Amino acid sequence: MRRRTFLMGALGLAGAGAVSFVAGRLTGAPAAQPAPIPRASATLVHPRRNPPSIPEPLPLPFDFATPSLERRPAPDLITDLPGEGNLIALTVDDGGSSETVAGYARWAEETSMRVTFFVTASLPSWSENAATLAPLIADGRVQMANHTWSHVDLTTASDQQVVDELSMTDEFLQSTFGVSGKPYFRPPFGRYDDRVLAAASSIGYTSCALWYGSLADSGLIAEPELLQYATEWLLPQHVVIGHANYPTVVGVMPQLTGILRDRGLQPVTLDDVFTRPV
Ligand SMILES: [Zn+2]
Repeated sequence: MRRRTFLMGALGLAGAGAVSFVAGRLTGAPAAQPAPIPRASATLVHPRRNPPSIPEPLPLPFDFATPSLERRPAPDLITDLPGEGNLIALTVDDGGSSETVAGYARWAEETSMRVTFFVTASLPSWSENAATLAPLIADGRVQMANHTWSHVDLTTASDQQVVDELSMTDEFLQSTFGVSGKPYFRPPFGRYDDRVLAAASSIGYTSCALWYGSLADSGLIAEPELLQYATEWLLPQHVVIGHANYPTVVGVMPQLTGILRDRGLQPVTLDDVFTRPV
């Protein structure tokens, strides 16, 4: 099997989750760029204060409801979910760990948890878990969206590279899962500008999905730390970013289920909340 090298840098800003994960150079793919310093933003940076206590694990089985919502058109930029409510969108990026992707799939199977994956398509974990993910995608618990082919900082890429990064991943999603990620893409490192948005939009990627809260697990962290971030950020109408790069999160899925249940939160995918352009 072809080995791929990944550089796991320092953790992003606390709470921003703006990351630290750079795909190595892959044959046939554009060169990865050095990890930039995440751009501070009033929307995405939230200092942590008074970390709450960590919850006990919730014994499985537990089954989340299937949401039935009045949907609205997907906006150009997503940072949270519109309006008042009890929805939570957990969005999971990259896919550096096949075991972790499998863990998320198992969570969706066992509890009806709903997850939107932002797939970095050059990583083998997505193909390796395709058979497990297919029925979850078919019944709507799992949604596949676009996180580029090689995790390049799109603000440093040419217009053509932006198009290639997104279209290669779209083709992968179509050939592997029979779905398109459109219109949702998440720019690596949360970095984008008007030029990136225009290039993405030119091929139907019209909705740039950011986040408002993070499990801060793009790099390796310990379970208690991840649970503190989860306790802090799994809140109503939030879009929370996690990563399928290390299996730490898999070990605390019972606790995450407990947080969501105790707070009366309804997990949703982006497709549960928004309609795609026709
Ligand atoms: Zn990423």
